[in-house]
Amino acid sequence: MTLLIQDEYPEKLFRDDGKRLDGRDPFELRPIKMEVDVIKNADGSAYIEWGNNKIFASVYGPREVHPHHLAKPDRGILRVFYRMATFSVFDRKRPAPGRREKEISMIISDCLEPVLFLELYPGTSFEIFIEVVDADGGTRCASTTVAALALADAGVPMRSLVTSCAVGKIGGQLVTDLSGIEDKAGEADLPTAITWFNDELSLLQFDGQISQSELEKCLDMAKDALDKIYSMQLDALKRKYIKIQEDAENQGGATEE
Ligand code: UDP
Repeated sequence: MTLLIQDEYPEKLFRDDGKRLDGRDPFELRPIKMEVDVIKNADGSAYIEWGNNKIFASVYGPREVHPHHLAKPDRGILRVFYRMATFSVFDRKRPAPGRREKEISMIISDCLEPVLFLELYPGTSFEIFIEVVDADGGTRCASTTVAALALADAGVPMRSLVTSCAVGKIGGQLVTDLSGIEDKAGEADLPTAITWFNDELSLLQFDGQISQSELEKCLDMAKDALDKIYSMQLDALKRKYIKIQEDAENQGGATEE
């Protein structure tokens, strides 16, 4: 029997053929699948599979704020709850939300708030519940991306979508979209997010060491990756409305007969 030990990292993060351990080229994203309208009881929802990450987001609002003292008389508030399921990682994750989950919830909220018109919803809240059921590096980016999609699915007015992706450095090379093992064993990890209405980064975190010229290159790589993921978000939204239209046409046809 082979025992997997979480803290054992490979010595090399690139194979002899120059590819990464999961077979990707340096600037290649992991496979990404997205779907909206996946949770019946939410005002809006979305699901993302990004490599081995599997994440749901549900949106509720605008609705009454609980507890009431959090309500603001002149604007709405956005509350984000990022949670990792106990079974989502190799080591059992403690069920109570830890400091990391609170920090990531805050980051996601800061990324999304600029695209909302909260000033139009005084005394109310929008809430986003994010459940990571399988985690493998980059969950804050995948969560931000899927949460923006769930907001759009809920019909919440938005200045634009928000898209997020990490870039970084592993084994001496700059790479796009770090997996869990690359995140832990690599030299640097830079999660980024963009608000498309003004083309501004609403997230730029940095963990590790890179030079200034590498940072500039990383930002170019991030922009390429964000463009690709944005078009996947738009496709996921379009698919929902194409399906509604097809269902309506089929129903119309059935009635005419
Ligand atoms: N992780 C874990 N246990 C934890 C927290 C994180 O195994 O309690 C793993 C998980 O796969 C996560 C990765 O470590 O995706 C990187 O975590 P990080 O805090 O860098 O956030 P992320 O990259 O997911 O945004």
